[in-house]
Amino acid sequence: MNDPGTVLITGGSRGIGAATARLAAAAGHAVCITYATQQRPADALVAEIVAAGGRAACLQANVGDPQVAETLLDRLPTALPPLYGLVNNAGITGPLGGFAQASRSTLEQVLDVNVLGTMLLTQQAVRRWCAAGRAGVVVNVSSIAATLGAPGEYVHYAASKAAVEAFTVGLAKELAEQGIRINAVSPGTTLTDIHAAAGEPGRPQRVAARIPMRRPGEAPEIAEAILWLLSDKASYVTGSVLKVAGGL
Ligand code: NAP
Repeated sequence: MNDPGTVLITGGSRGIGAATARLAAAAGHAVCITYATQQRPADALVAEIVAAGGRAACLQANVGDPQVAETLLDRLPTALPPLYGLVNNAGITGPLGGFAQASRSTLEQVLDVNVLGTMLLTQQAVRRWCAAGRAGVVVNVSSIAATLGAPGEYVHYAASKAAVEAFTVGLAKELAEQGIRINAVSPGTTLTDIHAAAGEPGRPQRVAARIPMRRPGEAPEIAEAILWLLSDKASYVTGSVLKVAGGL
């Protein structure tokens, strides 16, 4: 059987990225996860995957630094098989609040990580796949905020994810003939640390009443959708944005 190759998951040490790494490893992929500052959860996840018989490695990388995003693929451990899939999962919101209060540095950081990081890393992957004549798969992690707008919370974040979705649709069409599939998953409110980082750990519980299913999602529920889009089961799917949002 052919080696299913490596899947690179940015921000793969916690939350949705970590759940995706577990499922990708269980599906037989080698996984390379990245983290920004906290090495411990990344090391722990690599150890967990290896103990379960999988292949995993981690790299420190702030994808909001263009230099880092442009050179990340050069740093993939050579022991891993060729890159099969890229999951642009790393994303930040900045502090919750009205747009008038958002600082310029928050806007810059959110756009750098969510938009520019995603674009530069995807560009690196695509260049390699095209040069090698290989197929590849990209899954971008958007947010239901891209369609709802997140008023009073983080409209700049919503706008950054709308950019990710437009990027997904356009690039998928541009590269479809080369056998490169590009899709996005658009999660609703999901139980991860991102809400604490935004300043309100209890946000998922607060907003649950406005979710048609009346509950936040769990990270593995989002990861299942990402894995499906990565897999050959989605062989005719490109340029799609799949909402996984409890009906939002
Ligand atoms: P999370 O729990 O906050 O995950 C954080 C992960 O991202 C960690 O691995 C963290 O590394 C890494 N990270 C943070 N900043 C980074 C940077 N600049 N460069 C590289 N890695 C970075 O996040 P999550 O909730 O799982 O979110 C994952 C994705 O889903 C994001 O794109 C987010 O916008 C999207 N999303 C989330 C929700 C939700 O409700 N959770 C809803 C819709 C969409 P360290 O551990 O080193 O900090």
